[in-house]
Amino acid sequence: MLKPKPRVAFFEFTDCEGCQLQVANLGEALLELTKLVDIVNFREIMSEDGQEYEVLIVEGSVASKHDEERLKKIAAKAKVIVALGACATIGGVNNLKNLKSLDEQKKAVYGSVDPVPDAIATKPIDEVVKVDYYIHGCPIYGPEFVKVMECILLGKPYHVPNYPVCVECKQNENVCAYDKGLFCLGPITRAGCNSWLPNHGSVCVGCRGLLDNPASDAQKDILEKYGLTVDGILDKFTLYCASSKESAKYGKEFKK
Ligand code: SF4
Ligand code: SF4
Repeated sequence: MLKPKPRVAFFEFTDCEGCQLQVANLGEALLELTKLVDIVNFREIMSEDGQEYEVLIVEGSVASKHDEERLKKIAAKAKVIVALGACATIGGVNNLKNLKSLDEQKKAVYGSVDPVPDAIATKPIDEVVKVDYYIHGCPIYGPEFVKVMECILLGKPYHVPNYPVCVECKQNENVCAYDKGLFCLGPITRAGCNSWLPNHGSVCVGCRGLLDNPASDAQKDILEKYGLTVDGILDKFTLYCASSKESAKYGKEFKK
């Protein structure tokens, strides 16, 4: 159990900082949180740069040797480590870099100059340090962040839902995207976002990663009904789930 009013620090690696923006936009809930924790480092909302903390919230993927060393160093000071957003939890869009060899990607982006000689294949942060709490999504869903912070303060684990987004979508009484002629990854994506995108007429894009044990047979029935293939749906998953950890759940290795 942490001491009362633990110090919390946010640090970012390879990412767009959109997940921290979600936290910054929490409004009233963020003000309430500051009564319970002492935020010492969060560059989107404050200029202080505290380096002592109990709770470390990491956004972004590890993409270089320097990232690896820095992450180990800042993690060593923390009692609790939180992975914030798809870049940190599953590698997210950054894993697209791994679909070709590092040399090929560097040539395509930088030509003959190599400004990042220590670049490595991109990885989620739990391939470098032990993670205690995962907040999935691109970006994260604000209410889930609040829920995770409550668990941290109470010294309880947070169990990421291991059922599909469709469950939440049905509870929200949405018209299914498939019935509107759209393609949705909700049936095989882990829930926890309260079916955020389908609630607004859009489709799930798989940003929270794959379920551990998807109902494959039921999923195949859906795919057949709508004239889709398993390979087709897996290809759509490469946007967020190209990491070996995620793709291996379906027995498919996207990484080259
Ligand atoms: S998960 Fe998405 S929104 Fe969050 S930092 Fe990564 S790219 Fe940005
Ligand atoms: S819209 Fe997507 S998430 Fe909702 S029920 Fe249909 S397939 Fe599932």
